[in-house]
Amino acid sequence: MVAKRIDHIVKRPGRIQGEPDVSIPVSGDLVTEPGIRANEPDVDFYSRKYPIEDMSVTLTADAEWSFLESSAEDQEAFRRTYRLLSPIVKAGHESGDIEPTNEPNPGQDVTQLIIDKARELGFSEVGFTRYDRRYTYKDKKRWVKYEHAICLALEQDYERTQTIPSAYAEDAALYAYGTMSQLGLILADYIRSLGYHAQVHGPMDTVEVIIPMFVAAGLGQLGANGQLLSPHFGSRARLMTLTTDAIVTYNEPVDYGIHEFCQVCQVCVNRCPGRALQREKVWWRGIEKNKLVYERCRPVMARFSSCGVCMKVCPIQKYGMVSVMEHYVQTGDILGKGTYELEGYELEGKGYYGPDELPHFDRGFFDLPHGKSEDVLFEEFKKKLTSREIPEGPSGDADLRLFREQVEKAVLKNEGSANPMAMVLPDEEE
Ligand code: SF4
Ligand code: SF4
Repeated sequence: MVAKRIDHIVKRPGRIQGEPDVSIPVSGDLVTEPGIRANEPDVDFYSRKYPIEDMSVTLTADAEWSFLESSAEDQEAFRRTYRLLSPIVKAGHESGDIEPTNEPNPGQDVTQLIIDKARELGFSEVGFTRYDRRYTYKDKKRWVKYEHAICLALEQDYERTQTIPSAYAEDAALYAYGTMSQLGLILADYIRSLGYHAQVHGPMDTVEVIIPMFVAAGLGQLGANGQLLSPHFGSRARLMTLTTDAIVTYNEPVDYGIHEFCQVCQVCVNRCPGRALQREKVWWRGIEKNKLVYERCRPVMARFSSCGVCMKVCPIQKYGMVSVMEHYVQTGDILGKGTYELEGYELEGKGYYGPDELPHFDRGFFDLPHGKSEDVLFEEFKKKLTSREIPEGPSGDADLRLFREQVEKAVLKNEGSANPMAMVLPDEEE
């Protein structure tokens, strides 16, 4: 047993309203810096020169393919969520234009009022920071109206999450998204009743890369699994933001010790069925992080209920940051590492994998169409042309007409939909 020196203790409010505050001890050997390690001029440069693009806009072929590869049960869950959430996504889109319903109390800082209301509604983590436009998707830059971000995290059901990867767990994620989408609209109404505007950036409505603002607001740090590790439930937090012109006070980023902890832990890296997570950090768009290899992840997500093994096996998700950090300070070990309880998972149709066991996939498993649907259609057509599969004469003309129809449909679909979920569904289902 190795007792470690505690460098500092982070105090956070209890998981839900009414629960006592918690204290998280951060061991001296885990200390790096609050928030995220960033090179701000690089973040500025990349956001100006290469604005971040929304994957639901740029990778439509991948999304359609993933949907068709997923199980009938997962497809049905997605359709159900799409039907339920479409009106809510639309309401979020229009929320920034709604006028306040009261006069504001001049000069009053309403931070605590918003926190209290958000916690009453069920959000566990609430934080405030400047809305950082460097992380807004290129096509949404003009949509965002207000300068303060309210970061909100809702806990996903614990028991269901431990069954990842499964349709049962995926349902919990979709349920959390649906719930918070509605709660976000209620909170926006409340802010309007205080005399201010509020714009809802719903969790199903991709507006920005969200984690950097949660980190800036002190609600956690970025884990090696690419997810926000929040104090109470790690990456089991589902996230959304509201923006507002209300008078609020910003929070500060916090050093929870996560950057170094992840380098010691590495459970998610070791257990990823697709070998998509990287052991070493790299600098990416001005941020130091463990970068996920998308092409190794998406095919696994498509076939196994959105996968999420990297969430399931994270000790901070399973035991909470207090228990994990206390255990580390007392023993120098990672709570649960090497146990079946933490590291085991089942892939439907393939079997159960305990610690040190990983599934194998043949090479073709990772082949997926990559990019916009229309670009993939062009590539396929080019291949047919060069291999002379398009004959001269009426039958070749029919192929050309079909190609044109398919491209037109893909372009119109991507340009016409305000709801990113619609781009995933086959045409006839929108
Ligand atoms: S979702 Fe699955 S495949 Fe993707 S990074 Fe996480 S564990 Fe790996
Ligand atoms: S499993 Fe370990 S390495 Fe991965 S995110 Fe969680 S704490 Fe970090």
